[in-house]
Amino acid sequence: MTIDSNYQRVESAIQSHLNAVTRNRDTLICVAVTKLQSLNDTEVLYQNGCRHFGENRVEGLLEKKSFFKQNDITWHFIGSLQTRKVKEVINKIDYFHSLDRESLAKEINKRAEKPVSCFVQVNVTGELSKHGISPNELDAFIKTIENYPMIHVVGLMTMAPIHAQETELRACFRTLKELQESIASQKLSYAPCHETSMGMSRDYPIAIEEGATFIRVGSALFER
Ligand SMILES: *Cc1c(COP(=O)(O)O)cnc(C)c1O
Repeated sequence: MTIDSNYQRVESAIQSHLNAVTRNRDTLICVAVTKLQSLNDTEVLYQNGCRHFGENRVEGLLEKKSFFKQNDITWHFIGSLQTRKVKEVINKIDYFHSLDRESLAKEINKRAEKPVSCFVQVNVTGELSKHGISPNELDAFIKTIENYPMIHVVGLMTMAPIHAQETELRACFRTLKELQESIASQKLSYAPCHETSMGMSRDYPIAIEEGATFIRVGSALFER
């Protein structure tokens, strides 16, 4: 399989799952997760029309971003970020997908030169190995963001359990969607929270059907 054919396959799957729930293609952003992939392979995705790239390490993000001279790319940081590394990357990205603690909010607020579009990461299923705010602490966490004017909560993000079956995946995504809608209904100026970042290579079709507005797809684009 080539990257070109992978891209076409993922795009047509995206389209058909959007169709299944009568959504238009422009209601979904597919972030190509290029972590650990070469610059050349990433460029092939660009040539296919991909304009959203996601990295989970500071070095990877900086390397990819300095390689591309084009200014029509949207850059996403999708992984856990150490507080001490915030300053290296926070002014180089368009979206931050993994805001999961107040100390990180505080550091982002201190280092950002303009407001940063952030997703609050939620640990929906309570797995001990996962980062993220627990659902019952989410409201209180969102309220603390009012103290950090450089943070703009555009939505919620989750990672589904790796070995979950379809029923469990649906329940996980549905819960995130409900949490997102409940924050959005509060109409907080600092947390409009209209978006959900959920779904990866294994489970993006289900996430799309459950209302994801951002999916993060890596390995499905780079299979050989
Ligand atoms: C790696 C990664 C992805 C993409 O995972 P794939 O299974 O390769 O599609 C999505 N989100 C996060 C946070 C990741 O670290």
